[in-house]
Amino acid sequence: RELPGDPRTDLFPREVLHACYTKVSPSAEVDNPQLVAWSESVADFLDLDHREFERPDFPLLFSGASSLVGALPYAQCYGGHQFGMWAGQLGDGRAITLGEVLNSKSERWELQLKGAGKTPYSRFADGLAVLRSSIREFLCSEAMHHLGIPTTRALCLVTTGKFVSRDMFYDGNPKEEPGAIVCRVAQSFLRFGSYQIHASRGEEDMDLVRALSDYSIRHHFPHIENMSKSESLSFSTGGEEDSVVDLTSNKYAAWAVEVAERTASLIASWQGVGFTHGVLNTDNMSILGLTIDYGPFGFLDAFDPRFTPNTTDLPGRRYCFANQPDIGLWNIAHFTTTLSAAKLINEKEANYAMERYGTKFMDDYQVIMTKKLGLPKYNKQLISRLLSHMAVDKVDYTNFFRLLSNLKADTSIPDDRLLVPLKSALLDIGQERKEAWTDWVKAYIHELSTSEISDEQRKISMDSVNPKYVLRNYLCQTAIDAAEMGDFGEVRTLLKLMERPFDEQPGMEKYARLPPAWAYRPGVCMLSCSS
Ligand code: AMP
Ligand code: MG
Ligand code: MG
Repeated sequence: RELPGDPRTDLFPREVLHACYTKVSPSAEVDNPQLVAWSESVADFLDLDHREFERPDFPLLFSGASSLVGALPYAQCYGGHQFGMWAGQLGDGRAITLGEVLNSKSERWELQLKGAGKTPYSRFADGLAVLRSSIREFLCSEAMHHLGIPTTRALCLVTTGKFVSRDMFYDGNPKEEPGAIVCRVAQSFLRFGSYQIHASRGEEDMDLVRALSDYSIRHHFPHIENMSKSESLSFSTGGEEDSVVDLTSNKYAAWAVEVAERTASLIASWQGVGFTHGVLNTDNMSILGLTIDYGPFGFLDAFDPRFTPNTTDLPGRRYCFANQPDIGLWNIAHFTTTLSAAKLINEKEANYAMERYGTKFMDDYQVIMTKKLGLPKYNKQLISRLLSHMAVDKVDYTNFFRLLSNLKADTSIPDDRLLVPLKSALLDIGQERKEAWTDWVKAYIHELSTSEISDEQRKISMDSVNPKYVLRNYLCQTAIDAAEMGDFGEVRTLLKLMERPFDEQPGMEKYARLPPAWAYRPGVCMLSCSS
């Protein structure tokens, strides 16, 4: 019989009680694994020599088939609210942490293999990942980072050489797909659900909530750990006087506020680039405010506030683009409820964290939208009129903002010339809509003309926040189709392209095109949770 606690064999699914993690080694079968792609910038902050990627045993090490010297592999226990319902224990069902790298700057980075085999948290599933979803996670992690958005990173992607069976949602028939493993990298993969699971188990495990909170603050929020009552902290006062809480008297309250604010900033930055996560369950909410778990995500093509990339999210659209800010607050409310249950914060402090979420989101969102439009100051009416026009005419979110910087702040341009710079984004619109757009552009130019900034300067600053290239689902799909045939060139091309999303990159213009008709077939822009 398997020995309990043996990390090589102790994989049977179970409730893991009174523990934050389980020691477990990678066990995915491999057969001549291949390196598909790797990220130079991640290698650099890990102090990893680029020649390491040429080692013949590299794919064996990063598929988990050979063990890394010094690794202490484990899988984390966590729970979560899925689609608004408490789902109990989830945990790392297919991700196995190898350990931490301490780099020359004394930063700790956790290396985790996703798709490396079963763990006690695998429940009914196989612990594996397919090439399709691994390419999406690998590319999007890096694309988001280079867009300036906090995210878990990806060091490398290897194929396992084995096939994995997946139920495809659109015809119900299982499909054999190539297996793959992404090495994810983050300072921490702790999620809201990492604390929730212990609180859900009652008084007996509340000490675990407290111990994990202490660990989190000490290791990941040292500025809070080090704060003392005598220091005056520069926490701004967010709301009404009587609701302001003294954060210097309780480090857990200061921590809750920081998690809330980081989450608010993260979601504001998603709204800015038109990113829809697709599965904002509390187990997919990082305490560091990182984008985590790339499943059925999608960047907006045609602007549609109700867009959800996740077929499992229909018809409710809980996780659609426009709902993300509210869902962030819902998730923060559950995080603070957990800290309250463990008596780490009181009700007033919990409410204050939520209030600060709202304030931080609005502050960041206004700054982002003001920059995207190149406005001298925030103008709520102008921005909301623009977004409703974009929704009516299904205007491409990325390309529209990129074109907008070509407008001149010249109020003498005749009406019939005003839409010329936006022509390629406003195709197929009728006379009535042209008039609506002309009115908007007039108001916009009027607003721009109140500023001292030159057209050239404004264009430079707008183009530095409005990407030319985003990882549209159809681009991913092209790279996936080629990779499944053994050609990894397109994955590597997209990686390089997405490392400089704000640069024009001559010769690469085709990657800024709208999705072709085939992109609307099932499985390209709409995906299911399980991949
Ligand atoms: P997600 O919807 O991706 O956040 O996943 C929810 C839960 O399902 C997490 O506990 C995952 O680890 C687990 N999970 C997803 N896919 C698999 C798989 N192929 N094998 C084992 N566990 C999985
Ligand atoms: Mg997840
Ligand atoms: Mg996932």
